[in-house]
Amino acid sequence: MAVERTLSIIKPDATEKNLTGKINAKFEEAGLRIVAQKRLHLTKAQAGKFYEVHKERGFYDELCEFMSRSPVVAQVLEGEGAVAKNREVMGATNPAEADEGTIRKLFADSIGENSVHGSDSAENAAIEIAYFFAGTEIVG
Ligand code: ADP
Ligand code: MG
Repeated sequence: MAVERTLSIIKPDATEKNLTGKINAKFEEAGLRIVAQKRLHLTKAQAGKFYEVHKERGFYDELCEFMSRSPVVAQVLEGEGAVAKNREVMGATNPAEADEGTIRKLFADSIGENSVHGSDSAENAAIEIAYFFAGTEIVG
């Protein structure tokens, strides 16, 4: 399998609970490398732009409010099949349906406040990585 990069975001519910290190340990244990990382406090408009694909969904406003409530940690994960591997380590969108041992099962509160974001395809990963990082900020 090819080495890939994917965008990960540690969401406000998790930074509020001081879980950055515990969550990143899960990625590293799974063989993913953190090759870029920044902590930032998104504005509601920035969160809205990032999640624009969901703008017709009923939860869009709630999602943008939540994502701009507290700091997030945006990061690039690198590894073999990183897009799918990250999604596996994250667990299902709804923590109630997530497998045992996944980040969302362990740490998330609800389908909305679910601790982590991960790109869903290599194509979207490239777009999402470019939203947060310049090429020179990614050091593999
Ligand atoms: P994922 O993050 O697993 O890729 P989606 O892309 O479907 O999930 O949704 C993006 C984000 O929107 C979710 O991670 C979650 O924070 C929020 N979300 C999804 N579905 C709901 C819902 N039914 N109610 C509230 N928030 C939701
Ligand atoms: Mg998604």
